[in-house]
Amino acid sequence: MLIDNSKKIVLKLGSSTVVDKNGKFKKQWVTTLIKDIKKYGKGRNFVIVSSGAIALGQKYLEIKKKKIKLEMSQAIAAVGQIHLASEFQKLFDKFNIKSGQILISPDDTEQRRRALNVRNTFDNLFKLKAIPVVNENDTTATAEIKYGDNDRLAARVSQIIGADTLIILSDVDGLYNQAKKLVKNINIINEKTYSLADNSKNFYGSGGISTKLDAAKICMNSGCHMFIANGKKNNPIDRMIKNKIYSHFKPKISSLDARKKWIISSLNSPGIIYIDDGAAKALSNGKSLLAAGVVKIKGNFDKGANVLIVDQNEVQLARGLSSFDSEEIEKIKGKQSREIENILGYLSKSEIIHKDDMVKL
Ligand code: GLU
Repeated sequence: MLIDNSKKIVLKLGSSTVVDKNGKFKKQWVTTLIKDIKKYGKGRNFVIVSSGAIALGQKYLEIKKKKIKLEMSQAIAAVGQIHLASEFQKLFDKFNIKSGQILISPDDTEQRRRALNVRNTFDNLFKLKAIPVVNENDTTATAEIKYGDNDRLAARVSQIIGADTLIILSDVDGLYNQAKKLVKNINIINEKTYSLADNSKNFYGSGGISTKLDAAKICMNSGCHMFIANGKKNNPIDRMIKNKIYSHFKPKISSLDARKKWIISSLNSPGIIYIDDGAAKALSNGKSLLAAGVVKIKGNFDKGANVLIVDQNEVQLARGLSSFDSEEIEKIKGKQSREIENILGYLSKSEIIHKDDMVKL
């Protein structure tokens, strides 16, 4: 059975899955989902990542427009989110299930210390036997610091809390190939997979198929199974288990620890470090990145930032946590490690990125 060995399961519900065409919360459908959670919940922790704040806010505020400016959608989300959380809470209460709301911004998942704090909050909610109901913190997210879609948010949450399974409930059965047939098993995501995003059968949701593939990549690198399945019919989890109609993205076998899984699936890179061939060779042999091998950098970033390492042809080689901020690297690039203290005027680490803080791509 699909969730047999899963102890932590994240369910991602798109706006059209929880809100109907008239802008109403789909109480009856969510009730059947909660029944599924009750049925399969023994010995398992469920997490809900639900969109719908903006849709519910629009209905409540009687705003009919389709395209809304970001500043206004932030305010609408502020209104809609309390309705969304309250609808879930009322329904969970009927089944004697406790729930708690978590609103997440990219900083919460993309900064290591904050990501660990996020993990603790989830762990403590599980201890309290409360189901986390998650959404993006749309009220403060600006265009530059926004996930924008809950697919990648759900995947990043799955990775951070060490979930075994992420199920994205959408309005189609899964991913379709060129022949418009459902692709049941996916072991690798490449450009060909992304080209299927143009397929008319794959046009759905605010994120569309490509953000779902981005989400799948994060899951596959994190040892988490990801499924795309239809959330239009009642009892969606039970149906999936019985009908076996879904696309299943299988995780890679990986020896990476939790920290390295977090590093590799970063959603953005505040900086790029360009390195020479000698350093690239050292990296491929599992060595740390030294200042001598750095040719140039792009971006302004702080110490500890999760940056991308590329060669001079911009081929992506690795990701890692920088031991220096961008200003410091500008000063020490191309220099020998023993010169660093003199140049900066203080004692510091000798590697730009230590091998323990780096994952090869
Ligand atoms: N966070 C948005 C909302 O609650 C939805 C984002 C998405 O559609 O993925 O309305």
